[in-house]
Amino acid sequence: MADNKDIWVFIEFKKNSIRGVSFEIIGKAKELAKKSNEKVCVVLLGSNVSKFCEDFSYHGIDRIYLCEDSILGEYLTETFSSILINLIKEYIPSILLFPATKLGRDLAPRIAAALETGLTADCIELDIQDGNLVQTRTVYGGNYLADIICPKNRPQMATVRPNVMERSEALEKNQPEIINVPIDIDPNQLKTKVTEKIETTVIDIKPIDEADVIVSGGRGIGSKENFKIIDELAGVLNAAVGASRAAVDAGWISKSCQVGQSGTVVCPNIYIACGISGTTQHLVGMKSSKKIIAINKDPNAPIFDVCDYGIVGDYKVIVPLLTEALKEKLSQD
Ligand SMILES: Cc1cc2nc3c(=O)[nH]c(=O)nc-3n(C[C@H](O)[C@H](O)[C@H](O)COP(=O)(O)OP(=O)(O)OC[C@H]3O[C@@H](n4cnc5c(N)ncnc54)[C@H](O)[C@@H]3O)c2cc1C
Repeated sequence: MADNKDIWVFIEFKKNSIRGVSFEIIGKAKELAKKSNEKVCVVLLGSNVSKFCEDFSYHGIDRIYLCEDSILGEYLTETFSSILINLIKEYIPSILLFPATKLGRDLAPRIAAALETGLTADCIELDIQDGNLVQTRTVYGGNYLADIICPKNRPQMATVRPNVMERSEALEKNQPEIINVPIDIDPNQLKTKVTEKIETTVIDIKPIDEADVIVSGGRGIGSKENFKIIDELAGVLNAAVGASRAAVDAGWISKSCQVGQSGTVVCPNIYIACGISGTTQHLVGMKSSKKIIAINKDPNAPIFDVCDYGIVGDYKVIVPLLTEALKEKLSQD
């Protein structure tokens, strides 16, 4: 265990670009590395990823583990986990961080199990105390925070929720060491292969995870048809449409739009909550938004405790007025 050193961040790519959450995790990794006097390393796996090394040279990264091969063009648990497991055994990091995305949630447990170490999922804060990584996550339906440590095994592994940590700021360029990781995988031996990719019909839904503006609707919207009122405001603002779990459970909107503890954590510049009461499980997913606007007919709704601007009234009256006013204003600009 004494040999374990350095903090590794697994970098995820989406549609040939680096996912924003990677820079959020790097920001935190740099903070932790200062405390523990360790290096920050990133791990790049993919088919055409060496071009991204340049991006990391502006973020104070000490070392890049680069594994590039056409076989890694499509994510497969089998290939990615086997490369990472070998790499970890060779270079024995102390801490290994993944994004809590679909890919990270699939990959990290496989690696933790193979290395017989612990993994904390969905962390919202990380710190180092007495040489251990303190991994904070919500428990019991979001009502409590638990600090979890892994004192006996290494590496210490965590997945980190997108949009909860400050992004690493670009710095002066440095020259990270690049370790080219050889790949020794026989494609004929793989148990799985991607034969075809089929886009699902949700492609017309603007994703909420990296949206600048989100207009969200809750149970107060009343029906699937009424979500048109929310859609119209979102359309004028070029915003994504979000929802509370109550609206998702009612079948009014897709689960991919759910904001909150068991949905997506978002951090837009503007979050407009319509007909949403503001329970802890919802707030956990949107309270770091830069400006929160709440529309609710109940003046005592808890959402008003966290919002920057609150409007008490019926959203069916207020939202169309807002949509029209914004349409007019934006057409003049
Ligand atoms: C383990 C667990 C995980 C959960 N995860 C999530 C999660 O990820 N996200 C999430 O959102 N919830 C989550 N929940 C559910 C959460 O506890 C609440 O049930 C849910 O957030 C309530 O949604 P809501 O605010 O839309 O509904 P309600 O609490 O019913 O609030 C509806 C609001 O609409 C207002 N309203 C009604 N009519 C109008 C009108 N015409 N105009 C204006 N306002 C109106 C009412 O005043 C009320 O405040 C979770 C719960 C559990 C137990």
